[in-house]
Amino acid sequence: MDKETEEKYRQAGALARAACVAGSKQIKEGATLLSVAELTESMIKDGGAELAFPTNISIDSQAAHFTPRHDDDLVFERGQVVKLDVGAHVDGHIGDTAITVEVGSSVHKDLIRASKEALNVAIDLVHPGIPISTIGDYIDQTIRSYGFVPVENLTGHGLERYNLHAGLNIPNIRNAGKGRLEEGVVIAIEPFASTGEGKVGGKVLGNIYLFNKKVRVKAPEAEDLQGAIMEQNHSLPFSERFCASVISDPAQPLHLLNRRRGIFGYPILSDVPGSFVSQAEHTVLVTEGGCEVLTKTK
Ligand code: MN
Ligand code: MN
Repeated sequence: MDKETEEKYRQAGALARAACVAGSKQIKEGATLLSVAELTESMIKDGGAELAFPTNISIDSQAAHFTPRHDDDLVFERGQVVKLDVGAHVDGHIGDTAITVEVGSSVHKDLIRASKEALNVAIDLVHPGIPISTIGDYIDQTIRSYGFVPVENLTGHGLERYNLHAGLNIPNIRNAGKGRLEEGVVIAIEPFASTGEGKVGGKVLGNIYLFNKKVRVKAPEAEDLQGAIMEQNHSLPFSERFCASVISDPAQPLHLLNRRRGIFGYPILSDVPGSFVSQAEHTVLVTEGGCEVLTKTK
């Protein structure tokens, strides 16, 4: 990887982390989810980068893929386990990072520690030539040593220019993952620890979408929205809040574009009701001697 590209990754990574850390400090009882989403996203934009995806704020059994709507009044409540997952890009070079916090209590500190420790163990292992399955083995073992289960159907992933989930998957469970890591690749590692079954799914949309293809729509608002999505979101996910910045009432146009398969809506991914899930995530560059954490605070 050339120096200029590396620098762009470092810039995106540092901004994503700074936004995630700042946002995590605002997660308090009574604060709105919207204020945290807006803070993190404006820090990224003000820092000279763009959103790689809308800020994900997932609570308790939710593991990923929820972001508040533009008119959301949801607030954080005491005891909630909150995953804040933030992504920035500079010229398509993405930094992806996540922190878990518990609101106003510390009942789940071991759960939060489990995913964080698994991430640290994984980062220490990374070097060119390591079998990807070895990383999953250690993540699995670390999370289970705390008495929790790893989420088997969420994985870390390769990152390429304007591509959030490129090529390889970094498993969170043992006996999974193909191939070996090579020098120069950028990967996100993101262990999830759960008190539930370690499997996530769901059907309820979480206000995050991805452009699929241009479709014919007669409604002028939907047409305007489609144009803005195509122009501004490249191949990266966008939120209902982005849509509300283009047209005043995006609910119906979004529904229409989703139904016509012009866009794809991400469902909120949750473990079983009553469970709690934690996540920790960093983006790293595989280097000759190991790896460089790109999503670190400067
Ligand atoms: Mn992430
Ligand atoms: Mn990720």
